[in-house]
Amino acid sequence: MPSYEPVESPDKTTIFSYHDLTPPTTQDIYAAQRIVRRYLPRTPLVRSESLSAELDADVYLKREDTLPTRSFKIRGFYNLIADLEPEFREKGLITASMGNHGQGMATAAREFDVPAIIVVPATLENPTKINSMERLGATVIKHGQDFDEAREYAEQQGAEEGYRYVHGGNEPHLIAGRASAGLEVMEDCPEVDVLINPVGGGSSASAYALTVGALLGADVIGVQATGADAVYRAWSEGTIELQAQADTFAEGIKTRTPFALPLQIMQEHLTEMMLVEDDDLRAAIQRLLVDDAIMAEGAAAAGIAAALQMGGELAGKTVVLPITGSNLSAEKLQNMLADR
Ligand SMILES: *Cc1c(COP(=O)(O)O)cnc(C)c1O
Repeated sequence: MPSYEPVESPDKTTIFSYHDLTPPTTQDIYAAQRIVRRYLPRTPLVRSESLSAELDADVYLKREDTLPTRSFKIRGFYNLIADLEPEFREKGLITASMGNHGQGMATAAREFDVPAIIVVPATLENPTKINSMERLGATVIKHGQDFDEAREYAEQQGAEEGYRYVHGGNEPHLIAGRASAGLEVMEDCPEVDVLINPVGGGSSASAYALTVGALLGADVIGVQATGADAVYRAWSEGTIELQAQADTFAEGIKTRTPFALPLQIMQEHLTEMMLVEDDDLRAAIQRLLVDDAIMAEGAAAAGIAAALQMGGELAGKTVVLPITGSNLSAEKLQNMLADR
């Protein structure tokens, strides 16, 4: 078991003394898949008749919402904790989360009997996610006005108290574990032409970029919300800048900071980045509910919204849209249905 070796912080906003930030290799990704398979079922890839008809394409949905905790984030944690440096096993892990990353960490930490602390912003309006993290045995701390303030607090606590701070994006183990979804798509749908995935910290899009993109040669497209476009800008302009604001109801992609490692991978292997409006996210959620009987949370609808925005460009293609999570709060669901 390697011991923990800090490296220079990759971006100005990271205060935790850091560790290896080399992108995972293909070998790392296959090794991670072997671990992930021990704990998690393969997720279904199902054809959407409604979207296929609308786009005149073959559209498949990768049902990451069917995983325990109802989002893809959990994939990475089995890989990270299975390889956790011994000095952190008793002290445990700390992270910041808008809910799904935290639920994933809590589940895997419980499996390996490692303590887990999750910092959420005091403003997080999703009791479903918070209750779930507590039910899974994690300690939940509410701190800060948004994700990035919660993240800075978690990093500080990690540095001061000796927890293993788990970053949302700058974690080769998380990206490698999350890339197991890409390997499944490669096996189930080797004819894929285009995969469109939401981007928050970018761990998931960079994981698809390293598999479906780099290994299979498909186009991998990332999507952000117009009101929270920090990664879109960083990717387009090649700079890492903290934005003053992030505004979207889709908390899974509501972040102000691009992260060095996923950004580097996306710059190398993403074909394109797009933006969608919050109204398009709502319309995509309603559409998925009515036509496909799938509940998607705001972030998870971004790929569908972007595909609908591309329209005719996708005609004749094989398109994969990951449904990244389904933890929509009851209140948002209610508002969404009332608006129809
Ligand atoms: C976290 C999250 C995303 C964004 O994933 P990143 O790896 O942070 O880019 C998308 N959808 C859902 C449901 C999420 O929880």
